[in-house]
Amino acid sequence: MVWNISSKMLERLRQRAQQESCTIDELLDRLLADQPMPAASRPTLPPLFQNHDFVWTDDLYQFITENSSEAISVHAPDGRFLYINPAQAHLTGYSAEELIAFKPEELAALVHPDDLVHTQQTTHYGRLLAGETSTHLQYRMQLKDGSYIWIETASRPVFGPAGEITHIIATSRDITARKQAEDFRRYQAQLLQQVSDAIIATDSALKITSWNAAAQTIYGWTEDEVIGLPLDELLQTEWVEDLREQALDSLIRTGIWQGELRQKTRSGHTIYVLASVSWLRSDSGEIIGGVTVNRDITARKQAEEALQQSEARYKLLTEIMSDYALSVAVKPDGSLITEWVIGAFTEITGYPVSPPGAPASLATVHHDDYPRVHDDLMRTINNEPNVSEYRIFKYNSTEIVWLSVTRWPIWDDHEKRVVRFYSVAKDVTVRKQAEEALRYSEARLKSLLDSQTAFVIRTDMEGRFTYCNQPFLQKYGWFHNDLIGTSSLDTILEEDRDEALQAVEICIAQPGVPVQVVLRKPTYNHGILSTLWEFVGIQDHTGAVTEIQCVGFDISERIAAEQTLRDERQMFIAGPCVVFKWRIEPGWPVIYVSPNVTEQFGYLPSEFIEHGLLFDHIVHPDDLSRINTRIFEESAIGAVHIEQEYRLRHKNGEYRWVLESTTILRDSHGVVKSYQGYIQDITVQRNAREMAQEQLRLRISLEQEKDINNTIRLLISNWVHDLKTPLSVIGIARDVLARTLDQTDQGRSREKLETIRNQIQILDKLLNDLDTMSKLSFEHRELRLSRVNLAALCQITLQDMRETVGIHHRLVFVSDQQISFVEINEVLVNRILFNLLSNAVKYSPVGGEIRLELLRQGECIVLRVSDQGVGISEVDLPNIFKPFYRVNNTRSIDGSGLGLSIVQDCVQLHNGKISVESVVGMGTIFIVKLPLITSS
Ligand code: ADP
Repeated sequence: MVWNISSKMLERLRQRAQQESCTIDELLDRLLADQPMPAASRPTLPPLFQNHDFVWTDDLYQFITENSSEAISVHAPDGRFLYINPAQAHLTGYSAEELIAFKPEELAALVHPDDLVHTQQTTHYGRLLAGETSTHLQYRMQLKDGSYIWIETASRPVFGPAGEITHIIATSRDITARKQAEDFRRYQAQLLQQVSDAIIATDSALKITSWNAAAQTIYGWTEDEVIGLPLDELLQTEWVEDLREQALDSLIRTGIWQGELRQKTRSGHTIYVLASVSWLRSDSGEIIGGVTVNRDITARKQAEEALQQSEARYKLLTEIMSDYALSVAVKPDGSLITEWVIGAFTEITGYPVSPPGAPASLATVHHDDYPRVHDDLMRTINNEPNVSEYRIFKYNSTEIVWLSVTRWPIWDDHEKRVVRFYSVAKDVTVRKQAEEALRYSEARLKSLLDSQTAFVIRTDMEGRFTYCNQPFLQKYGWFHNDLIGTSSLDTILEEDRDEALQAVEICIAQPGVPVQVVLRKPTYNHGILSTLWEFVGIQDHTGAVTEIQCVGFDISERIAAEQTLRDERQMFIAGPCVVFKWRIEPGWPVIYVSPNVTEQFGYLPSEFIEHGLLFDHIVHPDDLSRINTRIFEESAIGAVHIEQEYRLRHKNGEYRWVLESTTILRDSHGVVKSYQGYIQDITVQRNAREMAQEQLRLRISLEQEKDINNTIRLLISNWVHDLKTPLSVIGIARDVLARTLDQTDQGRSREKLETIRNQIQILDKLLNDLDTMSKLSFEHRELRLSRVNLAALCQITLQDMRETVGIHHRLVFVSDQQISFVEINEVLVNRILFNLLSNAVKYSPVGGEIRLELLRQGECIVLRVSDQGVGISEVDLPNIFKPFYRVNNTRSIDGSGLGLSIVQDCVQLHNGKISVESVVGMGTIFIVKLPLITSS
């Protein structure tokens, strides 16, 4: 309390002391004896005046109260204001007149409703009336502007002559700032309860002075063991991104450093931590030590590194190997039978692997988790894949193992139910225990709050933000003032809002119990952040939950990494690559094979794993020695990866071409331990590749044939030219003969007739030659058969037509998939196709459809060429295969009449048959049947 003692006031004090014949000090003692004023606050007079006596007048008394910065008021016993000093008016915002005019109930209305009970039940007036000599109260009071402040009031009664209370004197003080500070401290304390990070304090020489429970969990040392040791040396700290000097530099400049560190735990393991280091300063600002808050991010780091470094398939393999997996058959009556178990089942659970066929049981599951596991199992049987995390009791011990189990149901279309499921289990005990320990870890360092990387928010019961810490605002890109008072629900992705509301309901039902929930939020720059929140219901003094406090960690990266892993795993299980792991023993026994082997190759994994089916047995015998030799050679020269193609027998007996991609696993001495890899069915790709190669080969061989064809064409045209000469001679001779027939010159007539006979003989010989020649080119050539992909041949012939004579027609190819390689003479078959197709084009209108069909009929290959052209009359049909026969009405169209006779020759050389069906004006179908020879 500050007393302003003016000279005028001192003058009055002196006068009063004179009147009462005492010193100023004595006077003050007497006057203040009854005042609610601590003796220490009594005005001390400057020494100059201490020997002067003065008189304590009412004026002086009033002067003191009027000038006091302490709010002073005088009340009637019912609480009404009788007097208030200016400081009191200033405190409340009301004028003295306004306050004095308030009735007792109006005054009560100024007190915050929550504090009213507390002020009234034990009201100072009541308490004073009941005999207490003074009261102290703290409550919130509404100011004239409507806002509330915290007020502390001390009251004392003033008694009348009969000992009754005549009035009450009160002093009041604004303690809002103190209250807020208290709240904040409480809040900090609550917050520190949630901390899950290692918090380590050091002195200025970086020697450890404090070490919390989380630090013990993460690093393995107890606090007693580490106090006084140099922090960096103990943890063998290495800086991952910054250099040590940069980190220290940043620490000195900004007072804080955040970044990744690599450290060693007590057991020698390397862990990665996200550290947040800040200086602790004394009141005078000098550095007295440091605080580091370390979060173990090893798991995240490893996931990141795995993603970056290794290819997805090997990562998946390692994942599968490090877990254990089992297959459980679901019987029609709902009972569960274990089919097989692979991996570290015994190491993790302690139980011996149950023999195939043993009933699967949940007896080992922790009773608290049993209902959940049971529900998840039911979901699996209802064809819903799921993941559950639960505890089991280790075999013959009370030790608990946490498992994360992923289950894939296998639906049987025939039985219309789930007949089996696969489970992949992972031991997550360490993680779970760490989470448990961290959740309740104790923290003692207040300065943590500022360097906390966790998000801290609070909301009221309507979900409006009441507090957000800096890391939260920074991460989400919001400004504090924009956010306070707005709905926190609006900042959550719509799909996640129900989950948030459910978490809040649990918080209300069970105050103080943390509820974990992962929520996604859009950020200002259109990203999505996933945060692992822990909600806690905060109670007021009546026990009601009035606020929800949420502490969250950004797990976006972890979620993304997990999702990628899940996608990849799913891709693998559902994908075409079958994963194998082989033992190095004769016959290549299989240690592991992924379940999709059934879908891809028809075998059950158990046929390999349990029933002794060797890998060798399903490899094509012709490929076996090739692949074995390759594997041994490559292993011997230190190769790590082999790829090769070979044929594998499907369970249905059919051979499929596969690509095997294998990694050779070695121990630390380089000795080969096993092979693992994946096998992919590439039959379709390989067929396509072979088809392309075949087409290329056929093209080259037909190209050569074209040259022979050209020679024949040249020959024929020469002969036609040669034929014209004797014909014209015959013509002229006949004319002459006609003209001279009247004159009976026998000799001349005979001579001309002789000429005709000679020329006819020449013509006859020429025609015979032509016939012989054409026969020679086909008949006398030995029929050499070779293995030809007939579909490929059809396709390239059609393609050639499309690009040349058939440019204005629609050429369609229909092929029976069963036919690929057959024994034929590709040149002759090409000639058959070419002649039939070019006729179809020639004798069809532009735009007409021409179909080439390749079919199999019993032991025959059938080639059908059909068109929608002019057709051939019944009269002409028997003749069209004769050499030089041309139908009259098609004479305007270029042709020699030789094409069909050549076709017939070629067909007959193959021991085949050709037939024709035609309707004039509708179209024609030529059907060629060749015997099917497939032997290699
Ligand atoms: P060219 O076509 O050179 O005349 P061909 O021996 O190939 O000789 O055919 C003989 C005759 O058969 C042709 O002149 C034609 O009248 C008839 N012919 C052949 N193919 C067809 C067809 N697809 N449609 C209608 N007539 C045809």
